[in-house]
Amino acid sequence: MSLSAATLLSDSARRHPGRVAVVEGDLRLTYAALWDDALRFAAVLRERGVRPGDRVAVLLPNTADFPRAYYAVLAAGATVVPVHALLVPDEVAYVLRHSGAKALVSGGPLRPVAVEAAAAAGIAVLAVTTEAEPLPYAEERDASDTAAVLYTSGTTGRPKGARLTHLNLVLNASVCAADLLRLTPEDTVLGCLPLFHSYGQSCAMNATLRTGATLVLLPRFTGPAALDMMIRERVTVFMGVPTMYHALAEAAAADERRPEALRVGVSGGAALPVALLERFEELFGTVILEGYGLTETSPVATFNQFSGRRPGTVGHPVWGVDIAVADPEQDRTVVPLPDGEVGEVLVRGHNVFAGYLDDPEATAAVLVDGWFRTGDLGVRDKDGYLSIVDRKKDLIIRGGYNVYPREVEEVLARHPAVAQVAVIGLPDPVRGEEICAVVVPRGDAAGPGADDETRRAVADELVSWSRERLGGHKYPRTVRFLPELPLGPSGKVLKRDLRESCA
Ligand code: ATP
Repeated sequence: MSLSAATLLSDSARRHPGRVAVVEGDLRLTYAALWDDALRFAAVLRERGVRPGDRVAVLLPNTADFPRAYYAVLAAGATVVPVHALLVPDEVAYVLRHSGAKALVSGGPLRPVAVEAAAAAGIAVLAVTTEAEPLPYAEERDASDTAAVLYTSGTTGRPKGARLTHLNLVLNASVCAADLLRLTPEDTVLGCLPLFHSYGQSCAMNATLRTGATLVLLPRFTGPAALDMMIRERVTVFMGVPTMYHALAEAAAADERRPEALRVGVSGGAALPVALLERFEELFGTVILEGYGLTETSPVATFNQFSGRRPGTVGHPVWGVDIAVADPEQDRTVVPLPDGEVGEVLVRGHNVFAGYLDDPEATAAVLVDGWFRTGDLGVRDKDGYLSIVDRKKDLIIRGGYNVYPREVEEVLARHPAVAQVAVIGLPDPVRGEEICAVVVPRGDAAGPGADDETRRAVADELVSWSRERLGGHKYPRTVRFLPELPLGPSGKVLKRDLRESCA
């Protein structure tokens, strides 16, 4: 079947040529202009020797050049390889070599990194330019061809290139736009999520452009900047990771203004503590819908719908996708567990990727029996709602008992002295692992200015708070205070870094 992900934009350009597709600062780019720019840059790529099926890497911040370059690569029939904007030149060079990229598109503040990495990989750096006659039409592709190779952020090891097909991209964006968010051309979506990451790419950029709605870009996220932008651009949909909701709640607590047009928030990428959801909803007077997915599932696999949402869960599988909860010990076969039992979450359907680029071993380890193994532990209730319990690798085993950090985090997040918390296991000679809560304190109680005695008192109070609410094997024995948690480029807490620095 012939299908190109470039149609996500070209179709909207035909239907809504005069509507604003992208806002970046004072720039307002219409659909007709954005698609024309993409076809012009596609012609430049063609002149530089890029052929259908080639790979072209893109290292750009969240500016209008990102969608220009992304859709130009697709229109030229090539595969787009978005590169993490926070990587150092050596890491970028690894992605360029591993993906066999023909060229690297870059510009702005990322250009120096791009130049160094591209020189190491022996390829050219191209700036986005529209100084060419546009290609007359976008190259046709097969639905099963690879449209994008997304390198996983490597929170769990060496980055692997997930191959997403045109069908993966088109269906995930369409499901997000129509079924989940009910986007219309009247919507304005704030895209603070990095566009090189699958969440920002599919849910913010592709779903918005598929609809004819407006994507507002904010190259550098801070709570106050996002709040300002929501008010200024009358944003109707905000998409973020939990740390962004935390920053927005803090910003709103110090500011009386509210984004009147906001109708829904979307959270994904990491567990959203229920206490944070409640705080945000109260401050903003709007609901947050939480979803779940991975780069390998394009990314959305499950979602809380407007009707019947259940905070603390990640909802039901999206249209056309199946979820199973299975015995995590079974390597080559899938043995589903009854509802209510914790097991590994498996995904099957149109959103599952085509495998890791040039890595058959890693692919075979996760594509099993027709299912994709997520490495996440979850549980399904009798009404079919899925809850993510934790990542398999973050599970703490204390004295032989399984402890899910998420459960402990939820309890601590409800304490007024806690702004943010991450619970980790640290090596312990007696129990194998001991539970440690790393806390970003709220207010001054245990902040940088507090003396040791006050901090100790707050730490003791947090231990007793947890002890009253959790079984004896689950409450943290130690509490550490940090001014902030280490975050990856997509805003997730890097637990591996925390474990290393606290050990
Ligand atoms: P790595 O590639 O190193 O494994 P990553 O964070 O880059 O890490 P992503 O594909 O971005 O990989 O993230 C997917 C993971 O994010 C999931 O496996 C899951 O652990 C977590 N996640 C996503 N959404 C949720 C959610 N709503 N609740 C809990 N965890 C979530």
